[in-house]
Amino acid sequence: MTGTEKSQCCVVGGGPAGLMLGYLLARAGVRVTVLEKHADFLRDFRGDTVHPSTLEIMVELGLIDRFLELPHQKVSKLGGMVGTTPVMIADFTHLPVRERYIAMMPQWDFLNFMASAAAKYPNFTLLMNTEATDLIERGGVVAGVKAKSPEGPKEILADLVVAADGRGSVLRSRADLSVEDLGAPMDALWFRLPIDRADAPETMGRFSAGSIFVMLYRGDYWQCAYVIPKGSLETLKAGGLDAFRDAIAIASPFKRERLDAISSWDDVKLLTVRVDRLLQWYRPGLLCIGDAAHAMSPIGGVGVNLAVQDAVATANILAQPLKAGTVTPDDLREVQKRRMFPTRVTQAIQVAAQNNIIGPTLKLREQPKPPFALRIMQTFPFLQRIPARVLGLGVRREHVADFIRDARN
Ligand SMILES: Cc1cc2nc3c(=O)[nH]c(=O)nc-3n(C[C@H](O)[C@H](O)[C@H](O)COP(=O)(O)OP(=O)(O)OC[C@H]3O[C@@H](n4cnc5c(N)ncnc54)[C@H](O)[C@@H]3O)c2cc1C
Repeated sequence: MTGTEKSQCCVVGGGPAGLMLGYLLARAGVRVTVLEKHADFLRDFRGDTVHPSTLEIMVELGLIDRFLELPHQKVSKLGGMVGTTPVMIADFTHLPVRERYIAMMPQWDFLNFMASAAAKYPNFTLLMNTEATDLIERGGVVAGVKAKSPEGPKEILADLVVAADGRGSVLRSRADLSVEDLGAPMDALWFRLPIDRADAPETMGRFSAGSIFVMLYRGDYWQCAYVIPKGSLETLKAGGLDAFRDAIAIASPFKRERLDAISSWDDVKLLTVRVDRLLQWYRPGLLCIGDAAHAMSPIGGVGVNLAVQDAVATANILAQPLKAGTVTPDDLREVQKRRMFPTRVTQAIQVAAQNNIIGPTLKLREQPKPPFALRIMQTFPFLQRIPARVLGLGVRREHVADFIRDARN
């Protein structure tokens, strides 16, 4: 054992939930250690949408101007194509916040930004290349984690361990917390395509007979998602790369030549879609947040933003008891109570969309027509503000508590 460290709070996972929580707790004066198993935050496309609710958190924290200096694209309106009919789905420009758009920003830029903002607090420690492997328990209470690091094994003892280690959370399985699986009929294949100067910079979804194609404008490339029936990747691969490129040519607006940019299956990343949530998010000494508590469907691209909202609620509720060394299971239950409602509502919307739109579209043989709700939104554009509100601000939006905003330590 190379060492035992002590902290008031040990956050496992340096994703959006873990780093935002680490920053907020450090700002509130809590001694916090964040563990991240990778050596850096570089990862290929992992949810690069920073929604208006997260941008508003940055406004509340006084970080927004520096944050927006990072390269990003603004999506003020979300459109789509249903069959051959163009539709407008969401208009963010009327939201009651300062930044009324989705900022498309590589997740590593967001994470590096939060890590460097937190690093100015002496009570914040970030251990990169350090992977939590197990919980340390004393008398039925979680008292810390065991970890492996380049220097050897480590123990980090803490009054509270927060599992923010994502949807494959090791800690939630070590803690034996029960998971409710809500199911998903699809997976998504992600890949990049080159941009052509003549392309309109539109982020949109295209719903056609038997296919769904999403294209996100990223300035110097298109980030694309092709939705497939769950578990069908191997069948697709058996058909060969050319057949795949042909299918994308039909589903997308791109000419077949451009699809040669997909040079091998290595360029295509599978997102196995999962929608699940823990029945109970905590045990004495341990709390799960973000994807570790609830894996979200990619519909609406809300996973990052829900993770950030969880972090804000956790810091608001737990920073003071953590400082005082008095965190109880009741405090942890309070966090779950606060965040379970938005999780349930968001997942219910996602599951309804999966079952009523995504699944049926993948089985269609004829071009779909826009459903009634979308047609009405085209006639009365102000109705596009409703999906914008649900997507952009979410359900039960969190605000940073005054004692954290005002903290000057
Ligand atoms: C391909 C893809 C596309 C997506 N698209 C979107 C999108 O457009 N918009 C959106 O909002 N969401 C999207 N998501 C979901 C989004 O990425 C997640 O919901 C979000 O990142 C969850 O944040 P988190 O902090 O809870 O977990 P994660 O982002 O998963 O972070 C967990 C962190 O913990 C680290 N970790 C894991 N285990 C350990 C361990 N044992 N010890 C130490 N560290 C550990 C991981 O390395 C990781 O850095 C997408 C996800 C994928 C995979």
